[in-house]
Amino acid sequence: MSTAARPGDTPGREVDLLVAGAGAGGMAAALVAVLEGLEVLLCEASPQVGGTAAISAGTLWIPGNRQSLAAGFSDSAEDAETYLDAIVGLGTNRHLRAAFLRTGPEAIDYLEARSDVVFRPCGRHPDYRSNQRGAAVAGRAIIPEPFDGRLLGRDFERVRPPIDEFMIFGGMMVGKDDISRLLGRYRSLGNFVQTSKLLARYLADRLSYSRGTRLVMGNALVARLYHSLRRRNVPILFETSIEDLIGGTDGVTGAVLRSGGERVAVRARRGVVLSTGGYAHNASLRAAFMPEAGRPRSMAVPSNRGDGVALGRGIGARIAPEQHCSGGFWSPVSVTRRADGSSGLFPHLVLDRAKPGLIAVNAAGRRFVNEADSYHDFVEAMLAAHKTVPSIPAYLICEADFVRRYGLGAIHPGRRSLAAFERSGYLVCAASIDELAQRISVDAAGLRESVRRANEFARTGVDLDFGKGETELNRFNGDPGHAPNPCLGPIETPPFCALQVWPAEIACSTGLATDEDARVLDHDGRPIPGLYACGNDMASIMQGVYAGPGITLGPALVFAYRAARHAAARAGHAIEADGKATVA
Ligand SMILES: Cc1cc2nc3c(=O)[nH]c(=O)nc-3n(C[C@H](O)[C@H](O)[C@H](O)COP(=O)(O)OP(=O)(O)OC[C@H]3O[C@@H](n4cnc5c(N)ncnc54)[C@H](O)[C@@H]3O)c2cc1C
Repeated sequence: MSTAARPGDTPGREVDLLVAGAGAGGMAAALVAVLEGLEVLLCEASPQVGGTAAISAGTLWIPGNRQSLAAGFSDSAEDAETYLDAIVGLGTNRHLRAAFLRTGPEAIDYLEARSDVVFRPCGRHPDYRSNQRGAAVAGRAIIPEPFDGRLLGRDFERVRPPIDEFMIFGGMMVGKDDISRLLGRYRSLGNFVQTSKLLARYLADRLSYSRGTRLVMGNALVARLYHSLRRRNVPILFETSIEDLIGGTDGVTGAVLRSGGERVAVRARRGVVLSTGGYAHNASLRAAFMPEAGRPRSMAVPSNRGDGVALGRGIGARIAPEQHCSGGFWSPVSVTRRADGSSGLFPHLVLDRAKPGLIAVNAAGRRFVNEADSYHDFVEAMLAAHKTVPSIPAYLICEADFVRRYGLGAIHPGRRSLAAFERSGYLVCAASIDELAQRISVDAAGLRESVRRANEFARTGVDLDFGKGETELNRFNGDPGHAPNPCLGPIETPPFCALQVWPAEIACSTGLATDEDARVLDHDGRPIPGLYACGNDMASIMQGVYAGPGITLGPALVFAYRAARHAAARAGHAIEADGKATVA
């Protein structure tokens, strides 16, 4: 199978490497390629860089990374390999995992040494199956250093902002550390001074910018990548989508880009990198590879329409993995009601589910999961339970006091009145468990019994049904000040509250099959010369298992690095008028 530029297509420029998609994977590939001396062109479908990475937490899972070792945390790629072998299995892509583990620290050090993309260790941040052999409790995850968006000048507006629900005061980003400082601002002078500085900076920003310019998490990552690309004058074509590949399984020599009504053929001597963010908003690919989700809800940016996967597939690339595994990386989400009348999705990642005094129930009023397990495992349990008892949506049940203390979804901790959230329908509160059950249409006897049992477990500190609070991960996200179990607390004082949650994917797991250098493979397992995929366009090396914090962005950057370096080492090609390549 092969495709070619059409007669009416405008002939465009010729470059070494064409990269499609200015998210985490695409910008990293473009950056490494330019650092390796290639002439690069980056095209981006939307008017802004960042993709879903811009709204992410920005954590990267890089076992054995130097930043954590230097901070005194011990970890190794060997331990991580043991861990992945245990939870992902010894399946077909073990060599890809080995390449990832071997290259991870090197790729991060390369970016740090040669660009403005710099990281800090997360420290304690347990793996998501923290009770398995080889799992790490600390030292495996890194996050980008906060970034000063003012360095981008007017191009700051080119950075996709985080979702509204992740900002306070209508535009201020706060990281996990900032949250505890803000909540404890009157508890120590240090906290008070830090918080006051953050607020003063934010107020000053708002005189000149549409939002705060102190960027953290995923926004800092993409802004750092973008800043580094700008400094090296890498051209980015905004509102320009890759629409066709030129070539076939015997080699890809360029692509056709669409900008407005025009189709422009671009030739690429060293190849094309597909990094268009996966197929979250492509109905047919979603139906084929993520059928578990029922009515689809996605955290991905709307411009991720599966173009990369569809284009690769269209010229004969293989989709992986072939054996059944989860096609998505999931999170429970609640549907928010924004002030302007629109709605959003709030991902319940780490702040509420593990805290003491919350249970999740299905339509039978029954628990179906250890609520403190990872967001992905929570949804997998929800999907499994739904096969026998309606569990989509599920409900998070707690006291109103819990909400005020720990926050619940989009309701930030410290909020005194919950009335506005009740009025909007986001939160349902009632004076008794029976009334709550009736208002959310779950079985009252079931809910009464679940709450009674949960209260018993809270007293003993042992969850006999699901083991909440038994793993390092559970306790990490629990309340360390709560005993005997940081994740178990009673639900006995009214008013009681319920919040509806649904499954949504935060990343795709299924994608184009590749080799260790992110070269896309055909159905016979042979690399298609000149075609690379990274980020969510590449099949995840985790095969649908959420191993730990940062398992999509970590591989996205590492395989972008491997792809760009492979392309740079590849013999250059002269490209004939008909799109055929000959070695120069
Ligand atoms: C709330 C949230 C938190 C998360 N936190 C983490 C985390 O901490 N760690 C982690 O590892 N993962 C996290 N993720 C997942 C992570 O954000 C994604 O896996 C990651 O962004 C994928 O990177 P990507 O480069 O493949 O795609 P993206 O970052 O989505 O970028 C894809 C880009 O391609 C563009 N594009 C699409 N089609 C075309 C086309 N035809 N031509 C040109 N451009 C195109 C899009 O507009 C977009 O800009 C999180 C996700 C969410 C929603």
